[in-house]
This record gives sequence, structure tokens and C-alpha cells, in this order.
Amino acid sequence: MEIGFETIGIIRSCYKEKFGIPRQAGLAPTATATLELLPPFNRAEAFTGLEGFSHLWLLFLFHGNNREEWKATVRPPRLGGNTRLGVFATRSPFRPNPIGLSAVQLDRIEQTHGKVALHLKGVDLLDGTPVIDIKPYLPYADAITTANGGFAAEAPTGQLPVHFLPEPNQTCQALENDRYPGLRQLIIDTLRNDPRPAYYQKRAKKKSFGIKLFDFDLRWQQDDEGIIVTELLRRDH
Ligand code: SAM
Repeated sequence: MEIGFETIGIIRSCYKEKFGIPRQAGLAPTATATLELLPPFNRAEAFTGLEGFSHLWLLFLFHGNNREEWKATVRPPRLGGNTRLGVFATRSPFRPNPIGLSAVQLDRIEQTHGKVALHLKGVDLLDGTPVIDIKPYLPYADAITTANGGFAAEAPTGQLPVHFLPEPNQTCQALENDRYPGLRQLIIDTLRNDPRPAYYQKRAKKKSFGIKLFDFDLRWQQDDEGIIVTELLRRDH
């Protein structure tokens, strides 16, 4: 049976590429995005009452997957990348129907000139992600405190210390005073969860990594001691 869905909105996220995006919603609480609703779904009345909820479920498409096929087993980064589990036992983006599900914080709803935008925090979403549904997060039904978490029972520790070299430190300060308040904490929240591929986590010798965050190229080095931010440069478009 073929099933079709319409995109109801598009995510505008601080994360401009897949590498570096937190592996679950809420792991980087300062990671922001805006969900811009598309016509005909951008009607104010469709959101009446939503302002009473602190969190939302988003259903979305993993549109940035660069391979079509799915495999019955995948290797979750949480298990070091070398143990295979059934795709339906994981939250892998590579699934028969590439649909994602994230519980994100609703910061505020913006309604201006016929436009509706939801301002979100704690996202694990790539810029440009198409959203196919929004539902309010219901703590009484959705937060099951007695649930078993399988191979991912504990939250990732995410406590790697993050230091800045003087130059990116200064750049960060200047940007924070300008258009990017909270940028330093976003960088810390993003890096301390160790975004490196699982196979790097074993051979942790200093190597440089980079991600695209907002309009910037961020580079860092990582070893057993933690993370050092080495560059924060505005990207040339
Ligand atoms: N919370 C969702 C879920 O459980 O369905 C997503 C979990 S998935 C493990 C999170 C990863 O998906 C991110 O680290 C990022 O690399 C990737 N991702 C996020 N948005 C994406 C998109 N639009 N297309 C492809 N990959 C995406």
C-alpha cells in the first residue's frame, strides 16, 4: 500500500550538516530550531491551545539520508559501532520508512502576517528537515517512569570538558554580543556529547574535526582529556 503525506513545515536549524547533530533530542538543550509552517497549515487556529505545552513530538523525514536502501540490522553508535541490532530495536535514521520522532521543547509560537513559526529547543534535526506532524507531549501518557531502556537504558554521560583556544574564545564572545546569544553553551552542549563516529572513540589521538553551526565552521580537537575548540570562522557563502 502506498501512503502519501504532505510536508506541513520545514525546520530551520542551527545544524547545517548531519555530522555533529546530537544523537537524540534533549541532549543539547540549547540547540535551537524554528519550524516554519507551510500553507495551508500555517493557520493560527490550527495551533490554538498549543502554547500550554512545554514540549512537542515532531514526526519528520530523514531527508538528508544519502542512501536509499535499508538494512535489517544496524550498528548503534551507543554500542561502539560494532554490534549489530535489528533496525526496529534502534532509532537509526536508516529505516524502511525514513520517519523520525523527536520530543523537543516549545519555546514560543510566533504568528505574524499570516505566518506561523514554532521556536524550538533541544533539537536533533538537520536544517531543511520536512515535518509531517506535530503532537503535544503528554507527560501523563508519554513519560513512562518504569520503562526499560534496552541497550540505551542510561542517558549518554556527555560530560567531556570543552575548552576554547584564545582566538575562537574571542570570536565567540563577540558573536554572543551580536546576533548569537548562547553560542558558547550551544558549542559546549554539542561537543561534550562526543559527536565523533563510534570508531574514532577507541583511537582517541588528537585529530581535527569540523562541523557547520549556523553560519560558522567550527573546528575542534579531541583526546582523552577532553575537547579543545581551535577555530570558529564565518563561512563564505
Ligand atoms: N529523535 C529522532 C528519532 O529517534 O527518530 C532522531 C534520532 S537519529 C539517531 C538522530 C540523528 O539523525 C542526528 O544525529 C542526525 O545525524 C540525523 N538527522 C537529523 N535530521 C536528519 C535529517 N533530516 N536527515 C537525515 N538525518 C538526520
